[in-house]
Amino acid sequence: MRPGGPPVSPRAVYRHVAHTIRRTPEGGITYETFCAAADCGAESGPHSEQGAAQDWALRHTGRTGRTGHDLFRRVFTDHAKVTRGEQWPTATAPVPLP
Ligand SMILES: [Zn+2]
Repeated sequence: MRPGGPPVSPRAVYRHVAHTIRRTPEGGITYETFCAAADCGAESGPHSEQGAAQDWALRHTGRTGRTGHDLFRRVFTDHAKVTRGEQWPTATAPVPLP
């Protein structure tokens, strides 16, 4: 119901539709690693493989970058899907007599 809208018929029946949200493999999981050293701001970027994000951190710390930065924030992102469930009527109007 919106304010100022047309009057609602007393026979109107509103239906609420249940929705469910669940994790889904569709879209995969994204792995990202962020350097936590002050004023650094370096980040691995999103990777579909966890090893790639970890390898970036190892390289950033010392193997090639030699920054000595050794604390990282890791972010794993999954995907979720919303599906429409069953409908059920909501009693918003008097039930007509037989
Ligand atoms: Zn860093």
